[in-house]
Amino acid sequence: MPDCIFCKIINREIPSQVVYEDEELLAFKDIHPVAPVHVLAIPKKHVVSVNDLADEDAEVVGKIFLVIKELASQLGIAETGYRVVTNSGEDGGQEVGHLHFHLIGGKPLGRKIG
Ligand code: 5GP
Ligand code: ZN
Repeated sequence: MPDCIFCKIINREIPSQVVYEDEELLAFKDIHPVAPVHVLAIPKKHVVSVNDLADEDAEVVGKIFLVIKELASQLGIAETGYRVVTNSGEDGGQEVGHLHFHLIGGKPLGRKIG
C-alpha cells in the first residue's frame, strides 16, 4: 500500500468527516476549507492523478460525478452553484498524490480559474 494520506483516510488511520461512502468511493470534508462547502471525493483505488487513469477507471470517475451531484444537493448548493476541480501535477497545484475532486461552494467563487 502506498504511503498516502488519502489511503489512510479511507482506512481510517487518519480521521476525517466522511459525508459519503460506498464500496468504491469516499467523500469527506477538506481539512482547510476554502468555502463554506468544501468536500473531496475520491476513488478508494489509489490512482495518483488524471494522468494515471486507466480505461477500467471510467465507471468510477463517472460515479464520482454522480455522487458530487447528490452531495451538492444534500449540502444545499445545487441551486446556488458550485465548482468541481481536480488538480494534476506540479503546475496544477496538486499536493496530495491520490486522485481527488474538490466540490466547492456556498459563496460566490468568481470566474477566475487560473
Ligand atoms: P490538492 O492541492 O492536492 O488538489 O488538494 C489537496 C487537499 O487536501 C487540500 O485542499 C487540503 O486541504 C486537503 N487535505 C490535505 N490533507 C488532508 C487531511 O489530512 N484531511 C483532510 N480532510 N483534507 C486534507
Ligand atoms: Zn492513496
